[in-house]
Amino acid sequence: MTQAQSTAASRPLRIVIIGAGMAGILAAIKLREAGYPDCTIYEKAARLGGTWRENTYPGIACDVPAHLYTYSFEPNPDWSHVFAPGDEIQRYFERVADKYGVSPAIRCGVEITHCEFRDGRWRLRMKDGASDVADVVIAATGVLHHPNIPDLPGLRGFGGACFHSAQWDHSVPLDGRRVGVIGTGSTAIQITSALVPRVSRFELFQRTAQWIMPIENPAYTDEQRAAFARDPQLIEKLREEIHRAAIEKIANAVVAADSPEMRWIEDVCLGNLERNVHDPVLREKLRPTYRAACKRLIFSSDFYAAIQRPNASLVTEAIEGIEAKGVRTRDGSLHELDVLVLATGFRADRFIRPAVVSGRGGILLDDAWADHPTAYLSLSVPGFPNFFMLNGPNGPVGNFSLIQIAEFQLGYILQLLEQVRAGRCREISATREATAAFDAARIEAARNSIWATGCKSWYLDKHGVPASWPWTYTRFEEEMAAPKLEAFELV
Ligand code: NAP
Repeated sequence: MTQAQSTAASRPLRIVIIGAGMAGILAAIKLREAGYPDCTIYEKAARLGGTWRENTYPGIACDVPAHLYTYSFEPNPDWSHVFAPGDEIQRYFERVADKYGVSPAIRCGVEITHCEFRDGRWRLRMKDGASDVADVVIAATGVLHHPNIPDLPGLRGFGGACFHSAQWDHSVPLDGRRVGVIGTGSTAIQITSALVPRVSRFELFQRTAQWIMPIENPAYTDEQRAAFARDPQLIEKLREEIHRAAIEKIANAVVAADSPEMRWIEDVCLGNLERNVHDPVLREKLRPTYRAACKRLIFSSDFYAAIQRPNASLVTEAIEGIEAKGVRTRDGSLHELDVLVLATGFRADRFIRPAVVSGRGGILLDDAWADHPTAYLSLSVPGFPNFFMLNGPNGPVGNFSLIQIAEFQLGYILQLLEQVRAGRCREISATREATAAFDAARIEAARNSIWATGCKSWYLDKHGVPASWPWTYTRFEEEMAAPKLEAFELV
């Protein structure tokens, strides 16, 4: 333990939260409840919402059941479907931010470009030249929000409309037109199901086939919603059921590649492919060559039906380049298109960056993360005192509801802040030793996970090592229950 024998007096803390998405709103609510009234959220966009503000592509829905993808303290009896559509989720966050009085604390249109720890406080600079000072910074900057724009020759020369799935241009008409989508991740699969029935021709450019878990998305009836509203216990019971099933069947299974649950998932996905894709040639094109859930598992009950419709085609020839009229593939074919959608994913290693963060002694986060981004328990970095991340590196992004994760992490951060507020220290951050031990252990454990069984995905760092939390949910819960203060440097 490196706890200094500090005699610092108890003090009020000014807290800046970066990002007004699900995690930033949560942080503001919980910090105020815990008696930290001086909180400001800086949000670079024009309104709150994070993922659900940015991603508005046709067919968008959350593939975590809605009643689980909800703050534990603010159940929503009105979810329309088992898996809620994106705009409904956006409205939920707007409603919650208003209800809990957080909206006035959000400064929209302000992008933080620099966070510098100097003389015991964080000096923040904004893109417009403004500045602020805070005792504590909470980076709630999200995981998947820096679009990965593919480096395809000729992309800029495309004559039709072209945009990334997270930057959907709603002014572009789609009905009756020829639309191409590059990518076969969760996003592209949802877009395919939504657009094939609307467009004249649909071409899906697949580099790697995906396993598809068939999951229906029924609407809740008026009676069910009324019952949820009358009796919140019903929602709680449902949450517990979904939570237990998700933990047993997925969250705890993905970290043990040879578990029976993983075999079950494989069998279900394989059965889906065999039963529901009728043309043997197409079936083989859609058959992945790696294990199910190695890439993020895709949940869809209608993708196979959509891609088999007469106006849809799956293109598996590699892309040679983009031309004014469409996509040229290696076999020489030109796929003529009016609209080209890049459903090519995100750069998952950015976190708060490109903001420049410099900690004690001027150490740059970019340098600390030169090999790979890492943080003790995903939330604290040595040398960066009073700086915490929600859904930071090495967290359980792949196998849990991110809302539950953020709630756990926030509870943990509140306990760390109590050390500062109570005057036991002025600065707190993870020790180098604890962070190195955590990093080594999670790299070792990641070898047993399904993500390490031989596929490429955004779960992997540049060395090919899965960057996600590689242990069970139970372990995460236990770790988050109370900080081990010996893992922190208190100054
Ligand atoms: P993604 O899973 O990273 O998929 C990107 C796709 O683009 C992959 O098929 C990839 O092919 C392809 N691609 C990338 N660069 C390419 C290139 N140069 N040429 C050809 N193809 C290229 O991204 P995403 O679909 O946006 O999903 C990201 C994550 O967001 C998901 O895994 C999920 O966690 C989350 N998400 C969730 C939901 C939900 O319902 N909750 C919905 C959407 C997304 P390769 O496979 O060959 O690399």
